[in-house]
Amino acid sequence: MRGGILLMYQFVIYILYLTIVGLFAVCVFTLTKWRTMLHTYLFFYCVANLVYNVGYIQLLHSTGLDMYVAALKVAYFGRLWVGLAMTLFIAELCGKIYPTIVKAIAGMFNMFVYFFILNLESNRLYYKHMEFKMVGDFPTLPHSGGPIYFVYTGLNLFYAITCVYLIVSAYIREKNETVKKRDLIMVVSVFALVVTYVIYFFKLVQLARIFDVMIVGYAVCTAFMLVAIVKYKMLDTASAAKNYVVDELSEGIIVVDNADRVNYYNKPAQKLFPELDDPKRSDVIQKLLSDFRSSIDSGEPVRLGGRIYTPRINPLTEDETRIGTLYSLSDDSEHYRYMDELRKQKQIADNANEAKSQFLANMSHEIRTPINAVLGFNEMITRECEKFNDTREEKSPAVSEAFENIGLYSGNIEGAGNNLLSIINDILDLSKIEAGKMDLVEGEYNLSSVIRDITGMIAFRAQEKGLEFITDIDETLPDSLYGDMVRVRQVITNILTNAVKYTDSGNVKLILRRQDDSEVRAGEMLNLAVTVKDTGIGIRPEDMEKLFGSFERLDLKHNSTIEGTGLGLAISHQLVAMMGGNIKVTSEYGSGSTFVITIPQKVSSVEPVGNFSSRTESPDKKKKRYKVSFTASDAAVLVVDDSIVNLRVAKALLRDTGLVIDTADSGAKALELTMQKKYDVILMDQRMPNMDGTETFKNIRTQQGGANPDTPVICMTADAIIGSKEKYIGAGFDDYLSKPVKSAELEQTLIRYISKDKIKMS
Ligand code: ADP
Repeated sequence: MRGGILLMYQFVIYILYLTIVGLFAVCVFTLTKWRTMLHTYLFFYCVANLVYNVGYIQLLHSTGLDMYVAALKVAYFGRLWVGLAMTLFIAELCGKIYPTIVKAIAGMFNMFVYFFILNLESNRLYYKHMEFKMVGDFPTLPHSGGPIYFVYTGLNLFYAITCVYLIVSAYIREKNETVKKRDLIMVVSVFALVVTYVIYFFKLVQLARIFDVMIVGYAVCTAFMLVAIVKYKMLDTASAAKNYVVDELSEGIIVVDNADRVNYYNKPAQKLFPELDDPKRSDVIQKLLSDFRSSIDSGEPVRLGGRIYTPRINPLTEDETRIGTLYSLSDDSEHYRYMDELRKQKQIADNANEAKSQFLANMSHEIRTPINAVLGFNEMITRECEKFNDTREEKSPAVSEAFENIGLYSGNIEGAGNNLLSIINDILDLSKIEAGKMDLVEGEYNLSSVIRDITGMIAFRAQEKGLEFITDIDETLPDSLYGDMVRVRQVITNILTNAVKYTDSGNVKLILRRQDDSEVRAGEMLNLAVTVKDTGIGIRPEDMEKLFGSFERLDLKHNSTIEGTGLGLAISHQLVAMMGGNIKVTSEYGSGSTFVITIPQKVSSVEPVGNFSSRTESPDKKKKRYKVSFTASDAAVLVVDDSIVNLRVAKALLRDTGLVIDTADSGAKALELTMQKKYDVILMDQRMPNMDGTETFKNIRTQQGGANPDTPVICMTADAIIGSKEKYIGAGFDDYLSKPVKSAELEQTLIRYISKDKIKMS
């Protein structure tokens, strides 16, 4: 017996030395590879164990109670922390994160226990009773435990069981074969610890009565751990780095299995949802996951503590089998803040743009009103001159010359006035396009009449500049198309006008073809390819990019004398894009330019335009003289306008028709007149103070005892932006005329509404 105990004593001493060397090696190893909390906990565990072992060797050499108790205090300085360090290490390995507060309480409890151990001799709370006794070579301290001793021992048992639970469940969950083997070793290692614990507590073997077998338990456990570290690279930098990265992510990550049980979460997720640490709060977690799902469905982010998160769900599969779901939550507060800011800025820009569009619409209205007077009276001057020239009376040469000059000047006023109008129209178009309010007004139209209109006008301008205007129209093009005729005409006219404008000698050519040779069928789309070639000044390569920019005028050194706003191409480009087509330009500076416009249009009927040039009328150089189109002295017209000048213009323009014309300078005045007299037509201005045109019109329609409930009312307004016509017709007006009103147009409109028996056509 004596010899056996001696052998055992030597054996135990060797084991302790071996353990110390082993622990020391792990400490060094951990220090060199220190990266993550896993390394921190392992280091903590080894150092605590080292102190425990060193203290215990000292204890095994003690010869009396004082020496024994002193060594015991050293040993406990390490022993106290081993269980906690071990649990934290295993938890970290299994991806379980404990809140700092739990760790702090556990640490404080250890210090509390250590206080009683330090005062072992003077209190009975740790050991109720103790005595020193040599059993063979083993110094022992038979004792009976006090309450703190039992609490501490129970806690250590709890640590051991927690470790078993964590590692066994990690082992079951784990799908990766290598990690599974590593976990199995850890299961064995922790299991060895628990077995030792049971032996220690119930003193199941002889040695347990004279020796703290826990020290062997921890040694065995550490040995298995070493196998896991070395063989299965438990502290492998790559996997450590992965964990590190996952924890350092700004995204919170929660992994659940197919039954929505949380398997893993990273540190940011734990910070956001501390409930993750508490297995009893699974209801909160379930609610959380369901919130994530509904947030994804609704597209609304998750708002938490003043920050905004975007949740994402990724299914996790292995071998095509779904094994769980990964929920990630990225902190997109900054992104949303920028978006909000952007939205605000966009709103400000939209408001400014809206204000600009409104300003342009108002400005256009205000400019059109005086131009109406200028052009209207100018027309009257032209008519008077023509009338004077027509009279056969004897005229002095000086008077004749004066009238001739007046005729010439009024021609110039008309040209300049029309030019001003087209600039206003361009500005309005652009503001409409920019405000996204430009809509295409589609309908059936004849391509031949569009070409005739355009070629007639361009041929006239080309001739004025001494340029040859060549047209080459594919005879097989279908004549009847469906699209926005006004816009098609506007774009082609624009490009052709430029070609004439920027060409001083040579020719301008218009080629109209189909883009492809496929068969044309009614109801199908056709790509009209309009090519405009000129032998003009050309465009510099560096200016090509700016060509379609608003208000962009190029090569001003050479172009400064040519009138233009730089809006035509910008508008044309946008209009063609709206119609689904494009404009391509090639140019040789100094030699000429080629614009190719492609516009998709629907074919209404396949009948071809035929030989076009035979039907093109040669341009009439002379301006058509005014000739009244009808007379109707029995018909009465009421003109309503707050501008006295405009009332005079309307009266003057209609003078030769012999119509009876009454005028009203306000809505109220108009209503007075419509009570008393039945009119054949009413011409109504829109913007008037107090009662505007639409209101006056509605009042006329509903006027009690009024004489004009059914009289055609024509809206005659300077409100000429696109869509105005539709707006006023929609409000109930019978027709719409924009100011400045042209006498021919005015007469043609009136003919439609005055009864035939009152009209005499001239
Ligand atoms: P503008 O009112 O100035 O003609 P556009 O938008 O129609 O405005 O054209 C923009 C600029 O493109 C013009 O100022 C001119 O410099 C250039 N440009 C357009 N068409 C031609 C062309 N056929 N030949 C040469 N330069 C052209």
